[in-house]
Order: sequence, then structure tokens, then C-alpha cells
Amino acid sequence: MNTDLPLQSERQPKSADDSSEAIGWIDQREQRVLAPFAMHSRNSHGRIHPEQEHLYRGPFQRDRDRILHSWAYRRLSGKMQVFTGEMGDYHRTRLTHTQEVATIARTIGRALGLNEDLIEALALMHDIGHPPYGHAGEDALDECAKEVGGFSHNQFALTIVQELEIVYPQFPGLNLTMEVLAGQNFRADKANVELDRLLEVQLVDAADSTAYDAHDTDDALKLGLVSIDEMAELSLIKTCLQHVAKKFTALDDSLRRTALVHQLVELQVTQLISHCAGQLRQRGFTSALEAMSSNFLIEHADELSEQKRELERFLYENVYRHPHLVAIRKTAQDRLRRMFDAFCDNPELFPAKYQRRAESVGVPRMAVEYLAGMTDRFCEQTYEQIALD
Ligand code: MG
Repeated sequence: MNTDLPLQSERQPKSADDSSEAIGWIDQREQRVLAPFAMHSRNSHGRIHPEQEHLYRGPFQRDRDRILHSWAYRRLSGKMQVFTGEMGDYHRTRLTHTQEVATIARTIGRALGLNEDLIEALALMHDIGHPPYGHAGEDALDECAKEVGGFSHNQFALTIVQELEIVYPQFPGLNLTMEVLAGQNFRADKANVELDRLLEVQLVDAADSTAYDAHDTDDALKLGLVSIDEMAELSLIKTCLQHVAKKFTALDDSLRRTALVHQLVELQVTQLISHCAGQLRQRGFTSALEAMSSNFLIEHADELSEQKRELERFLYENVYRHPHLVAIRKTAQDRLRRMFDAFCDNPELFPAKYQRRAESVGVPRMAVEYLAGMTDRFCEQTYEQIALD
């Protein structure tokens, strides 16, 4: 019988007001399953607006749930990752990319003894600030907003969770823990070498790259933009194909592709775990604070990092800059720029609640935020409604 369950009467908090008992139960569980260098809930710096602890969910589990139930998270299903909707239904959207990052990060986090609830909250949040049309949309909005501080999807994620999600009567935003906000702030300000980050934050960054290197390879092969033969000379792909050939013979093209992609995830995850677990054992950190303020980084060994860079260069040249995608991106960017100008010239086009926000942040910033919140389809519909063609 699992003695972790809060149903066990002596551990069950007596009332919803009994925060100390609620966090006590979570703490007992975390002390058993987490490494000393993981971020433990009892050491959280809490929330900007203080709240009672939940009866049976820890603070990072609540953050994860709040993000999952946000409008910005749901809209990820209508936002492209690399390939647009009219190219088919097989490839990843921003939402399924996010889910793949979360599941890969949880796997690595569990193996290393890190806080899975915090990892999942950070992973589910990491792309919620993405505008329509991926990085092309982001570049266009950044250019539109150059007079008012620019636009970054990582920074916009913080604006969403702190200001734009209005779902609780007591406070604006989702009132997430300081640890989740600091993790996203690190993503928004990576050039700032002064910023320390928890191992869980570093891990989600590594899982993001693990996921997109594998799924962009899969999608590009499935869409026929590149072939396995063209990729077979890349060192990482060659190694994975050798593993596949040892396990299976006479696979058809489809199963060979999926076996390759499974191996691509497996190899990156396994090597990251073994590389980091050995080093973490050696360093012997006794707290999350000690680990985050050291020079230790959750990253791949040099050889695999170089192999990943080679794969990413190939994807950049042959997939992300594919003429079809370049044409789609150019059309989308033109539309965003024209809509930005139209909203700035005619602020009455905003729905009423956005007009109120325009009074506090100014019309250009509001126009960028409104456009950034759109799904790809809603962006196209809005463009047609305001008849800019
Ligand atoms: Mg991502």
C-alpha cells in the first residue's frame, strides 16, 4: 500500500485552513523522493500575493495546474511550431511541442531526483508567450514594437501570467510561485550572466532542445522536405541509424523514420542523465541554492553538444529555410505589420477590454500584445475582417 496518500488519516490535513499540515505532508513526500539539490516546496519563496497552501497539492503542482487551465496554454494548439496548418495534420503544433518538452523533462528530472512538479510547471509555461507564426511572427512584432521596447515571446509569457490572465478575483494574473517566475525570467534574460537558475530551470532548457531536434527531424522527414539518406551523414543521425540497424532489419520507410526519431530522443536523454548524474554525485550539493549558485550546468557532454549543433545547422539550412516555409513566413509577417499599423491608426478596432489596457500601456504595446495572443487562424480571420488585402 502506498503510504504517501493523503487519505492516510494521521497525515491528512484537518482543514483547508491548516496550511502548515498541508505543506508538511508534501514535504515528507519530497524528502523521500527528491535529491537534496532539488528545489523542495518547503523552501519556496512563495507568491507575490500570499495564499493559503492547498490541502493536497504542493505549490508547484498548483502552478502547473494554473498554467494548464490558462487561455494562453489552450491557444498553443492553434499556433505553429515550425510547420503551418495547411501542410497537414501530422506535424507538431506549439502545444504538442510543449507536451513533448514536459514529458522529456519529467523523465530526466525523475532520474536525477529533481522536482517534477516544478519541472512540469516550467515546461508547460515555457512557450505560452509565443505569437502566431512562430519565430517569424515574433520577429515581425519585435520590429513593430521597436519604439516601445521590442517584443520577446519569453518576456510576453511573464506579462501573460502576471497581468493578462484575469481568472481570480483576488489578484491579476496566475500568482505563480517566485521559482516559476524566476525560471521564465531566466529564459527572457539569458544574456544576463548574473542570473543563477535552479537545476529544474536548466533541465527544461535542455529538454526543449532535445524535443525540437527530434521532432523537427521527424516532421521534416514525414513532410518529405528532406530524406533519411540526406541526413545519414550527420554524425548524430548516423549513430542513431546504427542503433536502429542493430535492433531491426528490413524496416519500411515509415518505421525506419519513427525508429530513428525514438533513438534520437533516447540517446539524448540517456546521455544527458548519465553525464549529469555522475557529476552531481561527485559535486555532492546539499541544497538547491548551493547547486544553483555553483558553476554546475545541466548540459550534454561536449561531443553530443557538437553533434546536436551539426544537426541544428542542417535543419536550419534545409528545413527552416525551405522556400515554402520562407514564403509562408513572409506573408504572415506582412500581415502582422499591416494589422499593427491598422490597430495603431484605429484603436477602436480593439475589443473593449483591450481598449482599457491601451490606456495603461499605450496603443502600440496593446496592439502588439493583442496580435501576439492570437492563434494563426484567428490572425488570418482578423486580417480578412479588417479587409486589408
Ligand atoms: Mg520550446
